[in-house]
Amino acid sequence: MPTRNGAPYDVAIVGAGVCGAAIARLLSRYRLRVALLEREADVSFGTSKANSGIVHGGFHHAAHFLKTRLEVAGAARFDRLREELGFPFARCGILVAASHPDDMPAIEHLRAQGEANGVKNLEICSRQRMLELEPKLSPEVCGGLYAPDGGIVEPYRYVFALVENAKANGVELLTEFEACAAERIADGEAKLPLWTIRSSDGRTVRARFAVNAAGLFADAVSAAFGAERYEIRPRKGEYFLLDRLAEGHPGRVVFPVPNAVSKGMLVIPTVEGTTLIGPTADPVDDKADVATTQARLSRIVESAKTLVPSVSEKDAITSFAGLRPVLGEDFYVAPSDIADAFVQVAGVQSPGLTASPAIAEYVRDLLAGLGLDLTEKSDWNPRVDAPVRPRNLSPEERAALVAANPAHGHIVCRCEEVSEAEIVEAIRHGHVTLDGIKFYTRAQMGRCQGGFCTYRILRILMRETGMSFDEITKRGKGSRVIASELGAEGHETQRL
Ligand SMILES: Cc1cc2nc3c(=O)[nH]c(=O)nc-3n(C[C@H](O)[C@H](O)[C@H](O)COP(=O)(O)OP(=O)(O)OC[C@H]3O[C@@H](n4cnc5c(N)ncnc54)[C@H](O)[C@@H]3O)c2cc1C
Repeated sequence: MPTRNGAPYDVAIVGAGVCGAAIARLLSRYRLRVALLEREADVSFGTSKANSGIVHGGFHHAAHFLKTRLEVAGAARFDRLREELGFPFARCGILVAASHPDDMPAIEHLRAQGEANGVKNLEICSRQRMLELEPKLSPEVCGGLYAPDGGIVEPYRYVFALVENAKANGVELLTEFEACAAERIADGEAKLPLWTIRSSDGRTVRARFAVNAAGLFADAVSAAFGAERYEIRPRKGEYFLLDRLAEGHPGRVVFPVPNAVSKGMLVIPTVEGTTLIGPTADPVDDKADVATTQARLSRIVESAKTLVPSVSEKDAITSFAGLRPVLGEDFYVAPSDIADAFVQVAGVQSPGLTASPAIAEYVRDLLAGLGLDLTEKSDWNPRVDAPVRPRNLSPEERAALVAANPAHGHIVCRCEEVSEAEIVEAIRHGHVTLDGIKFYTRAQMGRCQGGFCTYRILRILMRETGMSFDEITKRGKGSRVIASELGAEGHETQRL
């Protein structure tokens, strides 16, 4: 599958998580033909959809790691990105709470580490100052660290906006394209060596350069390209999502003092007004294992309560898990030493979301070092129109919107107040699975978790796409939501 005019691509990026999306968007700035290959039915369906959504404060890791440099540089890009791409992001600030005087040396260490990383404005706080900054903290708190520039982002909306902008600037997105084999073949009269990348369903893409941003499956992709052999091991993080009315909703991200394996279990105000508690950090064998367990969830609640005592399990509306793609302690972002014209973006666990804008710049420079010509386009447009959200408007603004488009007055998801016009917009932007619509609009994300609106969304999807009811899926292949006959689908099929 060559580009529209038959020429091969300059760059093929395997994986449309936050790394692949950020790289694609940045490369769309240059006169290049770029393909973004994603095995799922939509983008951001891997680790990038299930994480804490924090734009980190640059103090958790030591300066010698690549991830630290990229975290600090990436975090600084978010204001401009939000302005250009309109995704939900807020610099609400981060607190690290010490619950015992013995924790204060660790707090001092985090401050010193952050400062060595170039982070400004870090503040060591007394008990009183911590409670002033976050009155919902436990009265047991005895001091802590305040990072005012830390923030929160809606991760999937960030990825969707990156990809939407990349596509508007010429990047071609190929979904349900699972790269499973690749070889480098001399092509054409000039005998230019090109990657020929094959998908599991027999499609091919040719490209001069390839980037492996396949997250948990970067090891398989690296092997398919004949590049380095390594193993990505998943480490699961489970969460509880609390209702937007939960009393335990803090105004800032609250961390405990970190341990050797992880940053600990946190209380996170999401940018859309709900609260996340978690994550756990447990190695698992299966890269598809995102099950949650009552035992771990109870551990999360217990731990969150030590930070914010008003957190309550009764406010939980759902649980979910994400898998960290563990390779070593640091990111592995480098040109392959074995395969030509192949860049590895692997082992990107936390703070990968924060670092993503800087990962993109780093990869662009690596590609340039391998010989990719970077000539800027004169007509590159860095902006996308942020979707209209009636729930965020004043009554007057909302009335004007409904007068212009009555579908904005038809509320499909009552919990999150999502209108029919927003569902239609998601579909027109290519999000044609139930999960894609959920991540784009928040419909099905509220207290009833889709109990009320799923049927309505199905009807709109059928009307807008011409799909029949039994073609609609939750998240692509193998997840049809309604069977035409009892037992016609596998175990994932549900009958409504
Ligand atoms: C529990 C948890 C909490 C976290 N919290 C934070 C946080 O608060 N802040 C932060 O900065 N970071 C956080 N992270 C880290 C962050 O989520 C990741 O670093 C980031 O999402 C990794 O993005 P990625 O693009 O590398 O991988 P992914 O999002 O997994 O994307 C890889 C993509 O490649 C696709 N793919 C795989 N194989 C193939 C193939 N053969 N062909 C085509 N496509 C393929 C996948 O379907 C997927 O879409 C957290 C991670 C976890 C798990």
